[in-house]
Amino acid sequence: MSLLTVGTVAFDAIETPFGKTDKIIGGAATYISLSASYFTHPVHLVSVVGGDFPKEEIRLMEERGIHTEGLEIRENEKSFFWSGKYHNDLNSRDTLITELNVLADFKPVVPAVARRAEYLMLGNLTPDIQREVIQQMEVRPKLIVLDTMNFWMDVAMDSLKETLKLVDVLTINDEEARQLSGEYSLVKAAATILKMGPKYLVIKKGEHGALLFHEGQVFYAPALPLEDVFDPTGAGDTFAGGYIGYLAMTRNTSFQNQKNAIIYGSAMASFCVERFGTERLLNLNKELIVERARKFIQLVDTDLRLEFTV
Ligand code: AMP
Repeated sequence: MSLLTVGTVAFDAIETPFGKTDKIIGGAATYISLSASYFTHPVHLVSVVGGDFPKEEIRLMEERGIHTEGLEIRENEKSFFWSGKYHNDLNSRDTLITELNVLADFKPVVPAVARRAEYLMLGNLTPDIQREVIQQMEVRPKLIVLDTMNFWMDVAMDSLKETLKLVDVLTINDEEARQLSGEYSLVKAAATILKMGPKYLVIKKGEHGALLFHEGQVFYAPALPLEDVFDPTGAGDTFAGGYIGYLAMTRNTSFQNQKNAIIYGSAMASFCVERFGTERLLNLNKELIVERARKFIQLVDTDLRLEFTV
């Protein structure tokens, strides 16, 4: 099933307790499309980069079956740049720099072949641009998933609320759910957010897993305790790519199947954090992914009977 993804394709500079990088390849749409490409084809990418973005990286994406005709290259401008520093627990981070550069006046153009994509992943980006992409679709996709972050809540909350009315699923982290809803309890936050437009809400809690809310029901998937966590950057996007990629592959968006999608999304995110940047996402395969997803099931052993006889 065809998937269209929009979001940043960027340079990141990252500092974690284990080390520091110079500018490396990042961006929400980069992680999303690499992750989704293990599940479904074609994946169409709509984004913008400057002339400083290595052509070799675009070639690597194409090798993974990602169609980049919707990736605009502005030779005389600079790519989006983000820099962040993680705290010791790796679960929280401070944004040090956000330079919009090419993103500041980006007008997305969805290529004709992608305007009938059945699945649409709106990765982290200006909410206005996310909405413009929805408006360019010729047929309403079967599922529209939106990811965003606190940055856009701070600078474009009204626009974000407009975009939210048009989507099926919202994926955000726990702090962002609190900011968006004004509620501390995640259960109350979910109830408030599910009145804003989306029918499903995924709350990502980093090393504490993810929650899926839908019509008074809730499903929880843990995160796998890992030996090596180097860099959580892109984990949320990698999760989103695995989640929507799996739904597109199985052509089934029911609540029950979304539970599978959450496990596959979590499995992909667990690979992502094992190395800096996108490195770990370039050489995976079906066997590794399925084996990793099974570990999540073993972790919670759903066959427990929990008998209680007095
Ligand atoms: P994640 O760790 O999944 O939240 O995503 C990190 C990625 O998001 C990095 O590769 C950044 O390039 C990108 N990013 C950071 N800030 C923004 C922003 N305000 N809008 C869009 N993408 C961003």
